[in-house]
Amino acid sequence: MDFRNIKVSLKASNVMMTVDAYRIFSERYDYPVHIGITETGPTFPGAIKSAVGLGVLLSEGIGDTMRVSLTAEPEEEVRVAYEILRALGIRKRGAEIISCPTCGRCQVDLRPIAQEVELALRSIDKPISVAVMGCVVNGPGEAREADFGIAGGKGMGLLFKKGEVVRQVKEEDLLEALLSLIKEG
Ligand code: SF4
Repeated sequence: MDFRNIKVSLKASNVMMTVDAYRIFSERYDYPVHIGITETGPTFPGAIKSAVGLGVLLSEGIGDTMRVSLTAEPEEEVRVAYEILRALGIRKRGAEIISCPTCGRCQVDLRPIAQEVELALRSIDKPISVAVMGCVVNGPGEAREADFGIAGGKGMGLLFKKGEVVRQVKEEDLLEALLSLIKEG
């Protein structure tokens, strides 16, 4: 039809069918493609399906623009898309949270703390990594590659930067202390 400036989208809700379709198309044509898995469901299953499908395609160099389609707020779609790009090392923006899975050594209720930290850091644009670890013995060492971090103890916690302990603070002051440390840079 003589249209030259086009971009092609081949979305489906089946992950592997979508991947195959984009692979076949990209082998045959040079047109840019808009990638996505469509109708993936609510945030949890949708984010996983999108991450698997888009992760495979992007790791093979397929995809020029992308959309994550969730039955959720549009902001969630953008957050998931950024996480996919960040996991692949394609975009770096905002804080990446590294938190430990916890084990018998864990001395705090880590889940709500990790959630609070994640929420508090959503507004940060700086590309930093922040660790939230469950014990003071192994936490700072296990997360030495993180730019900043906290490790929980009994009623207290350690604040650390690149694996080096900065200071000890009361458990209830951990989040605020972490945020000021990040602000200081
Ligand atoms: S940081 Fe501590 S609590 Fe977390 S997994 Fe490692 S040893 Fe277990």
